[in-house]
Amino acid sequence: MTIFSKIVKGEIPSYKVAEDDQFYAFLDINPVAKGHTLVIPKQEIDYIFDQNDKQLAAHTLFAKRVAAAIRKAIPCKRVGVAVMGLEVPHAHIHLIPLNEESDMDFRKEHLKLTPEEMQEICQKIAAQFE
Ligand code: 5GP
Repeated sequence: MTIFSKIVKGEIPSYKVAEDDQFYAFLDINPVAKGHTLVIPKQEIDYIFDQNDKQLAAHTLFAKRVAAAIRKAIPCKRVGVAVMGLEVPHAHIHLIPLNEESDMDFRKEHLKLTPEEMQEICQKIAAQFE
């Protein structure tokens, strides 16, 4: 089982911002920007493009709703979208609030946020999810 499946099952804690029957969105534990969120299918699928067309479309549309919530909750110019999957073999879309290009640089030093800060960001985004 992947670490993200354990998160979906609640075996590992996460800062959940949204979910439905198919998808789950939660804060990245090692964020490159405040509000950095991961959107995953609950079904364990390695890579985003391994999903069939219907599920890929639903995944993208769910991420769109999460991005709208991020945009309302976190001041930013855009919400950046990235897919890498080099670390965790469970399809996920990175959503990252952007004010400048370097906000999406995964090689720079990541933020060190306290649990209280993570909780506050999580609640702000969750409150805007429609
Ligand atoms: P990728 O697979 O796209 O290269 O990177 C995986 C992402 O998942 C990283 O940004 C990493 O910080 C995040 N991540 C890895 N393990 C956990 C975890 O247990 N909890 C959360 N919330 N994020 C994780």
